[in-house]
Amino acid sequence: MSAELIDAANGQVEHNLQIALANRRTFNNVVSATHCTDCGDELDERRREAVPGCTMCVDCMAKQELLAKQRGMM
Ligand SMILES: [Zn+2]
Repeated sequence: MSAELIDAANGQVEHNLQIALANRRTFNNVVSATHCTDCGDELDERRREAVPGCTMCVDCMAKQELLAKQRGMM
């Protein structure tokens, strides 16, 4: 690989990283719900941190994903 190609590749990586960071910042601005919008259960603090913007508990999210799959949306 020539030096030019490596430079170009590094530039692409840097570019992707900037996009990833920008997306991350966007996600961090999303406020997670404190309670599940479906069953009303309180959402786990760790889950809210792990899944920014989440609005449902693990159980309801799994149900939702299953429904989406059954409807061929995923
Ligand atoms: Zn729920």
